[in-house]
Amino acid sequence: MCEDFKRALVDHIKNGNIYPGDDKCAWDIEELPVYGRCLIAKRDIEANEEIFRDHPLIVGPRVNNYIKIFCISCYKVLNKLTLCSQKCKFPVCSECEKTEAHRVECELIRSWKLKNENKYSKHLFRALTVIRGLLLTKEESKLINMMACHENSSVQNMEVEKILDEFDELTADSEIVQKLKKISSILNTNAFEVGLPHDSQPDHGISLRGLFPLGAVMNQNCIPNTYYVYNDHKIMIVKSSKLIKKGEQIFNSYTKLLWGTLQRRVHLGYSKNFLCNCERCLDRTEFNSNISGIKCIHPQCDSIMLPINPLVVTSPWKCEKCNFKLDHARASKITDILSKQIFNRISTEPMTKINHYLKNKLANFLPDGNQFTIELKLQIILKMKQESDYIMTIEDYQDIEKYCQDILNIIDKLTMGECFVKGILYHEIAITKIRLSELQGQEMNDEMRENLACLLKKTQVIVGNSISEPKDLKDLLKIYS
Ligand SMILES: [Zn+2]
Ligand SMILES: [Zn+2]
Ligand SMILES: [Zn+2]
Ligand SMILES: [Zn+2]
Repeated sequence: MCEDFKRALVDHIKNGNIYPGDDKCAWDIEELPVYGRCLIAKRDIEANEEIFRDHPLIVGPRVNNYIKIFCISCYKVLNKLTLCSQKCKFPVCSECEKTEAHRVECELIRSWKLKNENKYSKHLFRALTVIRGLLLTKEESKLINMMACHENSSVQNMEVEKILDEFDELTADSEIVQKLKKISSILNTNAFEVGLPHDSQPDHGISLRGLFPLGAVMNQNCIPNTYYVYNDHKIMIVKSSKLIKKGEQIFNSYTKLLWGTLQRRVHLGYSKNFLCNCERCLDRTEFNSNISGIKCIHPQCDSIMLPINPLVVTSPWKCEKCNFKLDHARASKITDILSKQIFNRISTEPMTKINHYLKNKLANFLPDGNQFTIELKLQIILKMKQESDYIMTIEDYQDIEKYCQDILNIIDKLTMGECFVKGILYHEIAITKIRLSELQGQEMNDEMRENLACLLKKTQVIVGNSISEPKDLKDLLKIYS
């Protein structure tokens, strides 16, 4: 079984012209107790080394509330909603409408006899990625049917249920609908979020879902030993975040690394139908990062409260120092209120005001390394300098540099090794240092320049030549190295 699957995977990546050859291939597939199918290192893999590349079998829109409508083939934003003139009801640009790729899916969709053929349908749009699964070759279909699949809970097949009403000839018990449901379950179990290059259309904020069969073999761990980036051909490039010894399992994280245990487990349970029990999940302090913690509410205590048993959603919380206890309901009320306040502020207020709130209010309730504090800091780091009609002060830049360092410290405590966020933060520190020296009228000495070159090179190693590479990175590298 493993051998068949491995052969199918190798054929799949060979089809994408991204197979390095048997002698260079760094991975193998093995069946292990508890985990089932695993990706295993065939040899020692150094930190930041590329482990493999994968290309998507299926790619398309997510089940999302997109703010902008985009062409279903080239994914460019359509300033005006233009539906296909052949009446498949999909938004498609005039260039892509003429392509073979569109003709095939257009004909398939129309063969089911659309109702209201001139009206855009959000449900149809969201189901397109699943529909594309019907257009795979025989070999590709065989491969996706070998992939892991959590059997269809009703949530999982929502996007299929919702399009039945769009057609005259697509009945719930038909063979096609059964196939669509199976594809939907496979996608929901395995799909990755895929970004699009931001230079083609700045800040259009569109991401897609893609089925990467080899990427999907990696099992979940909240301290993964890999991270990944995409290039502008939607190729996933998976690299190691630390030394992986021959025979060790290669892990990915299916959830956000800078979320606390409760949030990660709720997310995994809801979206992936399972709960993680990795070392980080079992440790209530999450390797002393206290990323889930809130400040102790007992007067005269400045320590941190955490759930006593992080694996139990209803666990009471306890202070590390004074042993003061909070029941689950009160603790989650505190975190709920704070997180709502934070996300509300992020979407409505300028970053300068948010920074003031972070320094003067939030610090009273949440410790420095708390997940919501981290989220706010990240937003400030990335967005504050982009705000129009605001001129950044020296103090703002100093705050940003400190926030970058705070987050890097938490990442270190979590023993995460190299990761995507680090690549972004190194670049942010570098450009912040450059701006600070300009504002302070400081001449850069050799040591400062070396320091900058070092930060920029670290960014280059992690996100270089990917769609996430900062636009000014190559120029800055030229100047400072
Ligand atoms: Zn197009
Ligand atoms: Zn069409
Ligand atoms: Zn875990
Ligand atoms: Zn206390």
